[in-house]
Amino acid sequence: MTEPAVPVHAVLFDRDDTLIVDVPYNGDPEAVRTMPSARAAIDRVRAAGIPVGVISNQSGIARGLLTREQVRAVNNRVEELLGPFDVWRVCPHAPRDGCECRKPRPGMILSAAAALGVAPENVVMIGDIGADVDAAEAAGARGILVPTRLTLHQERADATTVAETLADAVALALGVEMADER
Ligand SMILES: [Mg+2]
Ligand SMILES: [Zn+2]
Repeated sequence: MTEPAVPVHAVLFDRDDTLIVDVPYNGDPEAVRTMPSARAAIDRVRAAGIPVGVISNQSGIARGLLTREQVRAVNNRVEELLGPFDVWRVCPHAPRDGCECRKPRPGMILSAAAALGVAPENVVMIGDIGADVDAAEAAGARGILVPTRLTLHQERADATTVAETLADAVALALGVEMADER
């Protein structure tokens, strides 16, 4: 890694298939299952005194498949399992709405950074698909891709920074150790 170390003042996470197992358009808190080592990874960020947040596209709301209340209930369950987050941003829109918030647009990351009082360049966004890291780049933040089985090969190939696990991604974000950087 040749780029200079940039201080990290916030770590933002995608929700589905990053913090919890994706159940498409899930509105049932009882169906929430955390990803392996998610709690430990987030706690490591918290222990460093760095705020954590969640940045999530939930187009099921616009599609009429989910209510905002169901999304809130699922998010409350996420906090029960993974502890409190300092900021949440949820995009309720569908792609055709052309909003500023739906990833890969930068709106939610910029809004979360502003709410935390940190500059976007001091934010790391961790997620499992190209839209997560593209949103980070569009916001002037740093993105780290943690691929799953469902991540497209091209998304992995296009990502600036890839970590194989959430723990590796957090370690990389905190500058604790190197993961795959190219
Ligand atoms: Mg995801
Ligand atoms: Zn939106």
